[in-house]
Amino acid sequence: MDISNIRQLFPILDQKVYGKPLVYFDNAATTQKPQSVIDTLCRYYTTLNSNIHRGAHYLAAQATDEYEQTRRKVQAFINARHSREIVFTRGTTESINLVASSFAEQFIGNGDEVIVSAMEHHSNIVPWQLVCERKGARLRVIPFSDEGILDIKALEGLFNEHTRIVAVNHVSNTLGTVNPIAEIIEMAHSHNVPVLIDGAQAISHRKVDVQKLGCDFYCFSGHKMYGPMGVGVMYGREELLEQMPPYQGGGEMIKDVTFERTTYNELPFKFEAGTPAVGDVLGLSAAIDFINSIGIENIAAYEEELTEYATSQLLKIEGLRIFGTAPEKTSVISFLIGNAHPYDTGTLLDKLGIAVRTGHHCTQPIMDRYGIPGTVRASFAVYNTREEIDTLIAAINRIAPMLL
Ligand code: PLP
Repeated sequence: MDISNIRQLFPILDQKVYGKPLVYFDNAATTQKPQSVIDTLCRYYTTLNSNIHRGAHYLAAQATDEYEQTRRKVQAFINARHSREIVFTRGTTESINLVASSFAEQFIGNGDEVIVSAMEHHSNIVPWQLVCERKGARLRVIPFSDEGILDIKALEGLFNEHTRIVAVNHVSNTLGTVNPIAEIIEMAHSHNVPVLIDGAQAISHRKVDVQKLGCDFYCFSGHKMYGPMGVGVMYGREELLEQMPPYQGGGEMIKDVTFERTTYNELPFKFEAGTPAVGDVLGLSAAIDFINSIGIENIAAYEEELTEYATSQLLKIEGLRIFGTAPEKTSVISFLIGNAHPYDTGTLLDKLGIAVRTGHHCTQPIMDRYGIPGTVRASFAVYNTREEIDTLIAAINRIAPMLL
């Protein structure tokens, strides 16, 4: 894999900040976009812009065609059984809210229980808390170890006749842990409980095969997989989606509307009310092409190399602690330098041209678990290099005396 060729596809990387070459290590928050994705957005608004599905004219037909082709591309990308199981949303957050709200309407009642893990992003906690408040249900939480490994034995003990759904992430955005979701799904299914997987941090790092996994819902965002912001995916198993009521009412999701009674459209349109982000969906298509052109396995292998190298170099720095040391991780490294506040570290690194994220990363329960205010998080994508990691290490060595 020639990384310099890959880097050339990302115009944003070729710039200086504060006079220093940009080192972009905030990929878990959002990845940069290749020129092909940017060009697709530009092409859509320059030559294709129109509202889909309803138009009797050329542009509407073309846009609809490309929109529906993207649905089939996403279907193939995650190996869903049917394209009608792919629902376009604004992102992971909306996907999870859609499932929580609609699933709860049909399947969750007073006294029921929802299982999440202690390493979820707030987007996979708060929607379920809202549901629990509304329905008089209760949240149960899978704990994790100091290394950042979910306690699967504890999970087994959480199931009972009130359990209605398990919602866990595939990969933790703070710890980088790749969770044993196949095992979790199997365990949940043995109790007849469906599983939602938050795949926001996995989709650009691991091959996802929803049929092989057997998950009931899988949610992800376009912008964390080299695609545009404003588009995401909710995969749901047809049998469940058929039983679930619409999430939002509006255009496109109906079959017939009268003031007496409205009937709903078939899948997936039942869950796609209103005008979608058509240009962004087409951008997602270009992002999938980009990933496929390299191969997700190649991306994973290269990122693993980078992560191992960065981890070994970081651990040489005196007083530096890494949070999340599970054997199977993606390219996310959370750390603290001594007792320095993560924000101070992040600000100093920024002045040296290095973009990292600091804070709780929308995972406050993880911070509570370790008794820390936040971490500094460096997260890598396929366009990052060893040289950039060397720059990070040199920068930390330079700023550490100011912080400690
Ligand atoms: N879940 C995880 C694990 C995440 O890392 C994120 C974003 O950082 C989300 C959910 C929410 O994604 P979005 O903000 O794209 O909806």
